[in-house]
Amino acid sequence: MIYTTPEHEALREQVARFLEKEVEPHGEKWEAQGFTPREVLRKMGQLGWLGMTYSSEYGGAEADFMTSVVFQEALSRSTFGGFIVTVLVHTDMASPHLVHAGNEEQKEKYLPSLISGEKISAVGVSEPDAGSDVAGIRTNAKRDGNDYVINGTKMFITNGVHADLYFVAAKTDPEAKGSRGISMFIVEKGTPGFSVGRSLNKHGWHSSDTAELIFDNCRVPAENLLGEENRGFYAVMQNFQIERIALGAMAVGHALTALKLTTQWVKERKAFGGHLFDKQVIRQRLSMLAAKTEAARSYLYHCAWLVNENKECVKEVSMLKALTGELVNEVMYTCQQFHGGMGYMRETPIERLVRDARVLAVGGGATEVMLEEVAKRLYF
Ligand SMILES: Cc1cc2nc3c(=O)[nH]c(=O)nc-3n(C[C@H](O)[C@H](O)[C@H](O)COP(=O)(O)OP(=O)(O)OC[C@H]3O[C@@H](n4cnc5c(N)ncnc54)[C@H](O)[C@@H]3O)c2cc1C
Repeated sequence: MIYTTPEHEALREQVARFLEKEVEPHGEKWEAQGFTPREVLRKMGQLGWLGMTYSSEYGGAEADFMTSVVFQEALSRSTFGGFIVTVLVHTDMASPHLVHAGNEEQKEKYLPSLISGEKISAVGVSEPDAGSDVAGIRTNAKRDGNDYVINGTKMFITNGVHADLYFVAAKTDPEAKGSRGISMFIVEKGTPGFSVGRSLNKHGWHSSDTAELIFDNCRVPAENLLGEENRGFYAVMQNFQIERIALGAMAVGHALTALKLTTQWVKERKAFGGHLFDKQVIRQRLSMLAAKTEAARSYLYHCAWLVNENKECVKEVSMLKALTGELVNEVMYTCQQFHGGMGYMRETPIERLVRDARVLAVGGGATEVMLEEVAKRLYF
């Protein structure tokens, strides 16, 4: 059974109403323009949704992590994956770097505007030659007086084109082996030497802006170092658990939406003298996928509970990410199949969901990389 409270149910309903009014009628336009307008995020900020677990000192709602996952999953019922990821990168993949590693001055300076939605954040770890292998990044930051000078290129950065604040991983100790010698930096949009290289055209997530970032002798003040010098890899790894739970919530939300759309479709579509739903093979395949998705959903909340209780959960979250990233694609394949030719048409939400779901088996830790994390911790 999924742990839930009346407040969680109220939040689910509130988010569903927001999607119905503020997202679903406008998403096609955002897909065409390649990004989600920032006013939408500001509205979400006003509702207290961009700083769900953060301290009220900075404008946060001080909710527990379970509530945050309820929000992620409710938001993920949208049929626009690009919109969902725009929000979740800001709330659960980028801003946690500031919250977990930032000092008081940094939080006071940046956190209120991130929570209100006035400023939107991005996280830059991946590079053209290093994605899964975070330790292999080449972007470097050299100390020069009271500054660090950053050089390098980041790749596939969500919110990259339109963000205001970037949390960027760079090597600060070129001699250090493996995961050591990486640090995180706060880089503001407009800092000389920092530019958005290319806006990337993608298979899905069209309402999310994705960019290549270029650092060419980009000088940031030493006080923009986030956390301890050379300890950035561990901060990235710690935040990965939160990020991967958000991606798991997204996968569960997408799968439930696709199953709902498809069940409605096969109950209306007629062939061979009856509705498609009358065919045992169709309703049983959907039932089995619904069973798998509900099991994954329960496991999502189990992982959320582990994080909430501060328990070690790398194995569990890696399992969740691997499981849901694959399951959502299995669900999409069958749901598109049962839509027939219509499922191949750009005008149907299922066609978009199929494209949007694909990256959930790659981004934020590819399935194979997640399974390696599980394998290291197998207990049998
Ligand atoms: C749309 C999109 C948005 C993204 N947003 C961001 C962002 O905001 N910030 C950010 O920093 N990054 C972002 N990423 C990057 C993303 O996290 C990486 O793409 C992902 O980690 C995989 O890295 P890679 O693309 O370099 O693939 P590679 O590391 O080159 O791996 C390619 C494939 O090889 C396989 N593989 C890799 N390692 C192993 C292994 N050890 N064992 C077996 N098989 C393996 C996997 O199948 C993997 O998919 C985004 C990516 C996409 C596509």
